[in-house]
Amino acid sequence: DLFAPQRQNSAGLNLTDLQLLQQWQTDLAGLAGTTWQAAALVGGQTYSGDVLMVCSPFDRSSLVGHVACSPPQAIAHALQQADKAFADWRLCPVETRADYLLKAADLLEQQRLELAALCMREGGRTLSDALAEIREAVDLCRYYAAGAIELFSQAQSLPGPTGEENCLWQYGRGVFVCISPWNFPIAIFIGQIAAALAAGNTVIAKSALQTSLTGMACVRLLHQAGVPRDVLHFLPGDGATIGGQLLSDKRVAGVAFTGSSATARAINLQLAQRDAAIAALIAETGGQNVMLADSSAHVEQLVSDVLKSAFNSAGQRCSACRVLFLPEETADAIIERLIGAMQWLRLGSPLDLSTDVGPVIDRTALEKLNAHVDYLKNNAKRLYQLPLPAGLEKGHYFPPTLAEIAGLSQLEQEVFGPILHVVRYAGSDLSGVIEAINATGFGLTLGVHSRIKATMQSVRQQARVGNVYCNRNMIGAVVGVQPFGGMGQSGTGPKAGGPHYLLRFSVEQTVTSNL
Ligand code: GLU
Repeated sequence: DLFAPQRQNSAGLNLTDLQLLQQWQTDLAGLAGTTWQAAALVGGQTYSGDVLMVCSPFDRSSLVGHVACSPPQAIAHALQQADKAFADWRLCPVETRADYLLKAADLLEQQRLELAALCMREGGRTLSDALAEIREAVDLCRYYAAGAIELFSQAQSLPGPTGEENCLWQYGRGVFVCISPWNFPIAIFIGQIAAALAAGNTVIAKSALQTSLTGMACVRLLHQAGVPRDVLHFLPGDGATIGGQLLSDKRVAGVAFTGSSATARAINLQLAQRDAAIAALIAETGGQNVMLADSSAHVEQLVSDVLKSAFNSAGQRCSACRVLFLPEETADAIIERLIGAMQWLRLGSPLDLSTDVGPVIDRTALEKLNAHVDYLKNNAKRLYQLPLPAGLEKGHYFPPTLAEIAGLSQLEQEVFGPILHVVRYAGSDLSGVIEAINATGFGLTLGVHSRIKATMQSVRQQARVGNVYCNRNMIGAVVGVQPFGGMGQSGTGPKAGGPHYLLRFSVEQTVTSNL
């Protein structure tokens, strides 16, 4: 039973096992010279197009591979094939669809080494991040496979007060476009596709341009698992170009998107302007996530959880902690400890397995972060940055940074990287803080550190955010255990890895029969 507590996620790997770690080091070194290719893959056929060189975020001189951007005819062909294949796919037994996903989960585990190496080199992910997201992708495939069987394998029978028989059936919506970000190039990419397929949709997948090679490897794996080639298509390339052609087409029945709130709004607008069926949009977007501590907070625990939440994955998670709210009376002591603990973070190449904080994704990301630091230099009360170690000049490195600011109104946009803002508040009533958080319009994650149960309860109730974490870090939501996703400007829901996700990918049909 999918939603029963006894359902188990995969075990993953124990990275405290030094022998295992050494083996990984050797195996990864063996793949150091490997390069990968990506191109539009439609009906099993690849297309040529403008070719871009992909270099690693941690070393601009290191070639990872080449991407041929999707030409217009590949996009047109994908729409035509996905639309045609839907007629059969919507009637394909759900058990068959689920089997493909279960096979994909097994293949992900078997191909873990190559996938990890690829997303480390292309996405700048650390080994532990890469392995965690492969594991998450495995769990998402199994979770949605089981969920689809539970939800869709038979009609729900309804009351028949007039003697007629009433049943509720569920089908896929049609052609689903899945648009995923570069920060989880495996887990989010595969998660969206797996859900759409499980619910009976055909899929056109577009990975972020920065992680097209990883996207291509994932699509090949799904085909290898049995997903028919006319049911799943891949279109790498520039988002605006591909989105422009794809999303204005009448045949698109739904979009699953993870990325910025601004892009989600643009997609929504584009879908709404078509003279066509009203499309479903599932958007998971940004946040202005706060960790809130009161004066009863356990300081060591708080410092360790903040460090993880703000700097893991170089802060490139939409769940990451952007702002820490501290009570006036303990703020100085906690800021000192945070700065002390930051000294222990190792900034460096993901190929060095002792690295805690890797590079940011590209030059644009680095420039945005630097521009924000320029703003902070003039506007923050205090600014601290870890010094950049020598030898990292070839990569897009940005050091973990802490800035004390006056309030949330100083942050108009999400700052996507390893910058932690600290705000002091006075008094013990937290309602003002929660009001300020709600007023941002974002509502993704919130952390609360307090030893007073009533405080945690009132914060949880008042805060309009999707995921609340009490006395722990606020990242790394686990499939089926912590369904993930926000509200307001942070997303439409339903939550990924949760029991209601698949339902949004489907349409319902009520059948009333006089038998
Ligand atoms: N699900 C991830 C987490 O809980 C974040 C996903 C994202 O960054 O989009 O950390």
